[in-house]
Amino acid sequence: MAAGRLVVIGGGIAGSFAAYFLARADVEVTLIERDEIGVHASGNNPGGLNPLYGAGIPGPLQDLALEAFHLHLDLWHEIGRLSQLDFAARRNKRLNLAFEDADFALLERMKENYDAHTGFSARWVERDELLEIEPRLHPDVARGLWAEGDAKVDGAAYTRAVARAAQERGAAVVTGDVDGLETRDDRVTGVHVGSELMPCDGVVIATGPWCGRPARWLERSLPVEPVKGEMLLVELDGGVLPTDLAWRDVGVYQAAADQVWLGGTEDHVGFDREISEAARASIVERAGRVMPAMVNARVLHQTAGLRPVTPDGMPVVGASDGWSNVWVALGGGRKGMLFSAAMGAAIADLVTAGSTKLSVEPCSGERFAVEATAVDVG
Ligand SMILES: Cc1cc2nc3c(=O)[nH]c(=O)nc-3n(C[C@H](O)[C@H](O)[C@H](O)COP(=O)(O)OP(=O)(O)OC[C@H]3O[C@@H](n4cnc5c(N)ncnc54)[C@H](O)[C@@H]3O)c2cc1C
Repeated sequence: MAAGRLVVIGGGIAGSFAAYFLARADVEVTLIERDEIGVHASGNNPGGLNPLYGAGIPGPLQDLALEAFHLHLDLWHEIGRLSQLDFAARRNKRLNLAFEDADFALLERMKENYDAHTGFSARWVERDELLEIEPRLHPDVARGLWAEGDAKVDGAAYTRAVARAAQERGAAVVTGDVDGLETRDDRVTGVHVGSELMPCDGVVIATGPWCGRPARWLERSLPVEPVKGEMLLVELDGGVLPTDLAWRDVGVYQAAADQVWLGGTEDHVGFDREISEAARASIVERAGRVMPAMVNARVLHQTAGLRPVTPDGMPVVGASDGWSNVWVALGGGRKGMLFSAAMGAAIADLVTAGSTKLSVEPCSGERFAVEATAVDVG
């Protein structure tokens, strides 16, 4: 057990959950965020909590994904009560579309995994029924897989709510840019925030893709790359979309009234967070292949966020080797909203008990021990 004050660096969803679980375990904890809580990737995503597909699922991340999923569901009530914030949490359905053979194979595997897990299900929907459910679908659509059991939140509101719930549990939430660590032997004894030194008895690094400085402070490899994702909020002619839709990397997500979020870009452009014309055109063009009406839909808003992605796409969660009081909660990647609850809970277990029952073995930082340090200058 690390006695005394823990500092969590980074107020995205990973840091907010780490602070929440630490505070819940009666650890004195300060969450430090240099911007507002949840304004980066954690505030610019569709908030899908989908534990049955994605990198490493099914596969090495399957157990952790399901553990995280159930933690979210179990915590919604408490986070809502403590924060007094509405984060639009709900279970949801999604129609996964198939246009060609390659899509069928992918959806067949998805169906097997949905059918194999209690609380989830998937059924094939043939073309005629698809067009009855949503006549605006592209006429070339061949088949769909209706997947049920996943969940969804408003990412920005959820992140704020988790941080607020941590505060209600006793965590301090501070605005500041951590720009160095004070160390003695194998311990961190304080964090530098500008000219101020904040003494502490341990740190959790939850800085999203901004791992360059922490890697240098700790002299450890933290290979987390920013992968930019943009989304468009559009107004759709013809009324409300009956369900979320997905085709390959195109996502069409229900929003308020006749509005939908469109997503699906992945760009390796460093720390550039500006929205771009190219992404806008690409999203509209690809969404048009799912629903031709998207091509003329009025764009109301465009967002960009930087996913924190490791070379193998899996998070890094655990104690930092060579340091006796440093933990990392990084690399949630394309599923960082989902993994965040399990990442935070695992960190609190490791801090307070030195071990965790959560399935974080595949997420050990040791797999990167021999690689070069992070990409970043941030
Ligand atoms: C378009 C898009 C769609 C997505 N869709 C989904 C989805 O449907 N489901 C899902 O599960 N995930 C999704 N994701 C991924 C998910 O959003 C991210 O993995 C997750 O938000 C990462 O959270 P984080 O807390 O690790 O990082 P961030 O949200 O980046 O937070 C890190 C924080 O640390 C702060 N920070 C950094 N350095 C310092 C410092 N030195 N001092 C103080 N503060 C510092 C930053 O300001 C930042 O606020 C999506 C992402 C994008 C962009």
